[in-house]
Amino acid sequence: MPAIPLPDDLTIGTVLKIDAQAFELAEIEPYTRKDGQASAILHWRSNCPTCGVEFTHSTGRTSAQFNRRCEEHRKAAKPVTGKRGRKCKLSLATA
Ligand SMILES: [Zn+2]
Repeated sequence: MPAIPLPDDLTIGTVLKIDAQAFELAEIEPYTRKDGQASAILHWRSNCPTCGVEFTHSTGRTSAQFNRRCEEHRKAAKPVTGKRGRKCKLSLATA
């Protein structure tokens, strides 16, 4: 799926929903980019829609590409719902 643009004011506990699947922002890890700019890595927590196991997924600060499934199931290469390339419904709820 395409990268999702993220707002600037994300806080821990923010929940990003992709269709029915919730990703909770569990940790914001600050880091300094090679050019000296401060940035962060976001750690999101979700449950695999195939087996239900909890997994964490890290993304960049400003846009995010999400794995919808756990390590074991992400190679399935099948969309979680609907057809490949279909637009997912996104919603963001700040804590
Ligand atoms: Zn799984």
